[in-house]
Amino acid sequence: MAESRVVPPLSFVGYYLLMSFTPVPATVLSFEHARRTVEEQAALIQAGEAESIGLLEAAGRVLAEPVVADRDLPPFPRSTRDGYAVRPVDVAKVPATLDVIGEIKAGEKLERIPSIGKGQAASIMTGAPVPDGADAVVMVEYTAQHGTRVEITRGVTAGENIVPRGAEAREGAPLINRGVRLNEASIALAASAGKSRLLVHKRPRVAVLTTGDEIVAVETIPGPTQIRNSNSYSLAVQIRQAGAEPMLLPIAPDEKQGLRSLIEEGLKADLLLLTGGVSMGRYDLVEQVLAEMQAEFFFTGARIQPGRPVVFGKCGEAKCDEGKGAEGKCGAGTPARNGASAPRLCTYFFGLPGNPVSTMVTFELFVRPMLEALAGMSARKLLFTHAKLKSEIHVKPGLKRFLPAILSGEFEDSEVGLVPWQGSGDIAATARANCYIVVPSDRDQIPAGEFVAVLMR
Ligand code: AMP
Ligand code: MG
Repeated sequence: MAESRVVPPLSFVGYYLLMSFTPVPATVLSFEHARRTVEEQAALIQAGEAESIGLLEAAGRVLAEPVVADRDLPPFPRSTRDGYAVRPVDVAKVPATLDVIGEIKAGEKLERIPSIGKGQAASIMTGAPVPDGADAVVMVEYTAQHGTRVEITRGVTAGENIVPRGAEAREGAPLINRGVRLNEASIALAASAGKSRLLVHKRPRVAVLTTGDEIVAVETIPGPTQIRNSNSYSLAVQIRQAGAEPMLLPIAPDEKQGLRSLIEEGLKADLLLLTGGVSMGRYDLVEQVLAEMQAEFFFTGARIQPGRPVVFGKCGEAKCDEGKGAEGKCGAGTPARNGASAPRLCTYFFGLPGNPVSTMVTFELFVRPMLEALAGMSARKLLFTHAKLKSEIHVKPGLKRFLPAILSGEFEDSEVGLVPWQGSGDIAATARANCYIVVPSDRDQIPAGEFVAVLMR
């Protein structure tokens, strides 16, 4: 007997898959609410494994163990000046003439350092140990040496021009906490504590999935209506700057099956960033495909410009559950990290709007804190700097705006002005900018001369 069930032709299946609709409840938050939502999720993340690396390679990496002082800092009472080590009582009345009983250079051997008695002084150099008996250093400008005697013309109080032993840190005290991203100062501090190697977190891997039928690879000659993929590159740069490792996936089509298999691939990473396909258009399928995969959405939009359709959620084999303990948590420490084929319990994702400026801005505003948490960094708040507005701004109120701008001026006189642009697709204008002016959502006008908030880039 012939099969009675009607088997639809493939094209129909394709059409059905494209048009079938899994509703995603819209959760559009204010900028501040959306940012706090990301911060709350970031706080649940477990940092990845650690590795030991050389001191210099550790710059930009996140410390996985505290660095402890291996001795008092400074290890001896250190003179901060070139001058004479004296007893303040001997110079209570000036001018006073004292006997010079020696000279103390930086690095002077302990046994060659004389004790200072009544009426005595020792010439001393910056960074040298202050001798017993003396507890102040008179700067060289206030002295005149005559043979073995020195005339002091200005008095000193106890402790002047000396850093006491252990004043910067006591032996055994923590110098740098775990979770700190290492910069030149913390690397210098680790060096001063004798650490030639440091334990740092492994870099999280971030999958980048760009979507859109019109998008072609940079190597391709684009057709008249095609657009070269630029978002994968801006994101890769931002990911690297945030201390993580980008993995660029192939460009996904505006078609559910192809999109879904690339999303599944991307969810094997520690974080998945999608660009494009999150607006309200008929072919904006990212949210629908993720909803079909049982994703959980924290928000599907933020009242900002550029970047309004930004999406944040998590998706995986099982939904993450705080109560499950370490095994159930999202983060770089979940089992999938070691073997790409191992199913991870869940992965956070962002659907970033495809307009290139929106992609860059939403990364700074929302993706960075998640990446930093995956990299093992302690949480930090988003801070804007302030500068004087060069010329008046007019906008429609209702959205918090992050508009490409140039911060200029010199020394204490900084000023900031908008870069003329064609909207959130204008990469050329954004490439000329060095910051974004932050316009609060309740303002429709800001006069020249007012101090405005600035997001640096
Ligand atoms: P969408 O968010 O998919 O509606 O895309 C918004 C705009 O961004 C469209 O003009 C796209 O062509 C453009 N766009 C999307 N993805 C990219 C990309 N990877 N590189 C450059 N432009 C893109
Ligand atoms: Mg698109």
